[in-house]
Amino acid sequence: MDDILIIGAGVTGCFIARELSRYVTKVVVLDKENDVGNYSSMANSAIVHSGYDPEPGSLKAKLNVQGNAMYDQVCKDLDVTFQRIGSLTVAVFDEQLPVLQDLAKRAALNGVEVKLLTSGEVKAMEPNVVDTVKGALYAPSCGVIDPFELCVHLMENAMDNGTKLYLNEEVVEIRSFGELYEVRTKKNTYYAKYVINASGVQADFISQTVAPKTFSIAPRKGEYYVLDYTQTPLVNHVVFPLPTALGKGILVTPTYGGNYLVGPSSAIIDDKTDLSTDVMTLNEVKKSAAQLIKNIPFNKVIRAFAGLRATPSTHDFIIVEAAPNFINVAGIESPGLASSPAIAKKVVEEFIGKKIKLIPNPNFVPTVRPYHRFKQTSEAEWQKLIAKDKRYARMVCRCETVSEGEIRDLLNRNCPPHSIKGVKKRVRAGFGRCQGGFCAPNVLAILADHYHIKVTEVPYDEPGTNILKQPTKEVGE
Ligand SMILES: Cc1cc2nc3c(=O)[nH]c(=O)nc-3n(C[C@H](O)[C@H](O)[C@H](O)COP(=O)(O)OP(=O)(O)OC[C@H]3O[C@@H](n4cnc5c(N)ncnc54)[C@H](O)[C@@H]3O)c2cc1C
Repeated sequence: MDDILIIGAGVTGCFIARELSRYVTKVVVLDKENDVGNYSSMANSAIVHSGYDPEPGSLKAKLNVQGNAMYDQVCKDLDVTFQRIGSLTVAVFDEQLPVLQDLAKRAALNGVEVKLLTSGEVKAMEPNVVDTVKGALYAPSCGVIDPFELCVHLMENAMDNGTKLYLNEEVVEIRSFGELYEVRTKKNTYYAKYVINASGVQADFISQTVAPKTFSIAPRKGEYYVLDYTQTPLVNHVVFPLPTALGKGILVTPTYGGNYLVGPSSAIIDDKTDLSTDVMTLNEVKKSAAQLIKNIPFNKVIRAFAGLRATPSTHDFIIVEAAPNFINVAGIESPGLASSPAIAKKVVEEFIGKKIKLIPNPNFVPTVRPYHRFKQTSEAEWQKLIAKDKRYARMVCRCETVSEGEIRDLLNRNCPPHSIKGVKKRVRAGFGRCQGGFCAPNVLAILADHYHIKVTEVPYDEPGTNILKQPTKEVGE
């Protein structure tokens, strides 16, 4: 039996698991997917928002600002790519200028440093902004991050410190027996004294298995374009339009990896599993983005994708004990990524800490073993690595320059990939303009070798998505 069971290994569940691993507790995390961070946490704008925008006094406002401030240390400890590039919220009509001033007042109430800029200042910072720009609100603390890398490194560190993770485990029923919860998945049964529900868009369903219905979660879809690298920067900051009732609007931003994101749209849908994209919505994304930034090179689109926001009926994050020892961490829509370190601290200190004495884990190590990334390493250091392990000299992915050594290293850590997509999301092999055409067979062969399985048994993504029906002459068996 475990002390605490967390349902969901998105960024919320991963941060809570890592925070709990600072203490002497037995923690288990279950997720229905074949990898951590596989749902909303990997399909978003990847922005650590500054926090000027949420309603002052709301949980969103407080936890966003606290969470943003925690990111430098978290990313240093966990070797996660994070850049505070700042954001510009841009007015393109004169009548929008008072809205910028209101946002500046809101920022002051939320405790966020911002500056109002003239059109000339905006043009100097963003040469591609539309000529009609009237001014902007600059928030220097806004950053961009690799949210998937964040989830993996959080879980790796939590597991290094004793957390257990079980993937492909979909929770279908929870029953309470006095002081104990029985949590049934499609395959197994787990027992724990405390349950933390961090299951994203499914959090209303999971909550209702043990607690009265007090909220619902609507999936709100956002569709994006991803653009390839450009010769000269398209934008240097996160560029937002003015926010509306539908959210922060369609933005243009550099990503942590040097690509550009354009999106997201915003539409409530019925199906909590629908991650499709459609041309009409994406055309609207193009049109809206063109009102902010000139000459966006849509001929450089690498792909489109969609994510689902877990929009709560309460309009704020829901962090409550919904039944005895059953804690909902629900409705974590944007700015959930930015807020998640502070959400985890709140859950552990204000909820779990009131139930059990939190004894510091004497063996807690806050850092992960450093990662070696070809793109960020000097020639001399890389040669030293090759001298130790020749596989760092074998380039598996040419577009993103990823070596076999980097992939082998992933496989020898806690929270390793089990699929071609798992490797892609960790080291970007397959992310470039050939989209895996060159590297996928190599990655497939490495996975087969590592897990001692046939090449025909390696999945592209979730179980059953194998791409080879029979061995080919290139990779053999
Ligand atoms: C389009 C879009 C743009 C966004 N942009 C930003 C942004 O720029 N900045 C920001 O701060 N936030 C942003 N967000 C919000 C952010 O992505 C979320 O707040 C965050 O990812 C929520 O994480 P989570 O762990 O709560 O949910 P999820 O990542 O969805 O994780 C929930 C997990 O629970 C698992 N699960 C569900 N049901 C079960 C079950 N029955 N059994 C077992 N496991 C289950 C799922 O598989 C999933 O892994 C955006 C969201 C979207 C969709």
